[in-house]
Amino acid sequence: MSYFDRLKKMVSAFLPGAASRGGEPGETDSGGVSGLPNIHVLATGGTIAGGRAEAGAGTVYTAGVLGVEALLAAVPAVRAIANIGNEQIVSVGSQDMDESIWLKLARRVNELLARNDIDGVVITHGTDTLEETAYFLDLTVKSDKPVVLVGAMRPAHAAGTDGPANLFDAIVVASSRDSAARGVLVAMSGNVFEARDVTKVSTTASQAFAAPNFGPLGQVHDGRVIYWRRSERASAHRINFDISGLENLPPVGIVYGHVNAPALLVKTLVEAQYQGIVSAGVGNGNLYYKVLGALADAASRGIAVVRSSRVAAGPTIRGVELDDTRYGFAAAGTLNPQKARVLLQLALTRTRDAGEIQKMFDYC
Ligand code: ASP
Repeated sequence: MSYFDRLKKMVSAFLPGAASRGGEPGETDSGGVSGLPNIHVLATGGTIAGGRAEAGAGTVYTAGVLGVEALLAAVPAVRAIANIGNEQIVSVGSQDMDESIWLKLARRVNELLARNDIDGVVITHGTDTLEETAYFLDLTVKSDKPVVLVGAMRPAHAAGTDGPANLFDAIVVASSRDSAARGVLVAMSGNVFEARDVTKVSTTASQAFAAPNFGPLGQVHDGRVIYWRRSERASAHRINFDISGLENLPPVGIVYGHVNAPALLVKTLVEAQYQGIVSAGVGNGNLYYKVLGALADAASRGIAVVRSSRVAAGPTIRGVELDDTRYGFAAAGTLNPQKARVLLQLALTRTRDAGEIQKMFDYC
């Protein structure tokens, strides 16, 4: 089918009375064009679905008020690229993302990608915790088909909103065969990032995401994705965690390092029976001596301790200024504290052994 015919088909999909192909309960689809990939868009809320809280020209808005149909209506041109199904999973600001939503989302993505009639999944998400959801899915989705997360920094009503452009790009990325077997991807501001390295680096700029250690995997331009490199971590050696039988995840907290940091926060997590603690330490994951003492005590009680760093880039390496073997700690490598927390939660569903946990951090 020519591009022109596809455009005609796309326009007719928006005319009143256009047929809906439907699917499972909760799914909608505007009808398939053969030869185009079938991409399913799962919406979770965020600024990409943000609307004005009250009349006025200010920047005040509420995340997650627009439904997935409204998001897709803003990007009609995607109908020439893919057959789009859609589903609203939740409608939250991603500051309210939680583990029950993660489990629901990961199960749904696994179900969808196991189907022959689905070629890829796009997930719309708030930007605040997008990187954590992306990494959680990266470790729990059992498919090589593309999974692409996308958000926006400006709500739909704002001048220069970035939501439609980012969503268009995400659908382009999910529709490309080149996107297969790269792990979960994030499409933001024309860049494609791997879930493991991507992080939010600005509270307000529209170029809010970066991959501080290794840079983007590729770029999207004019409806085409071009990859510059492949991540070794997305390879077959990667551990995939089975979440099918889980109702929740082990509790893991993060303690932030700073001058004269108290041991109190570590002790509080121990008393609250957390199973793991990630330290966002200083420099190469170093620890103020009082915090070191409290973490060593926690590890001796069987709590898993992982050293990461509050520094934006570079690995936290074992045994440089601190003897991890002596204290029973693991080192996070290039995972930032919030991603180390995700991996530690999943690792703890399998083991509490510090050596085994270190191996998972070495592989994932
Ligand atoms: N607080 C919003 C959220 O994470 C911010 C955004 O999406 O940009 O849902």
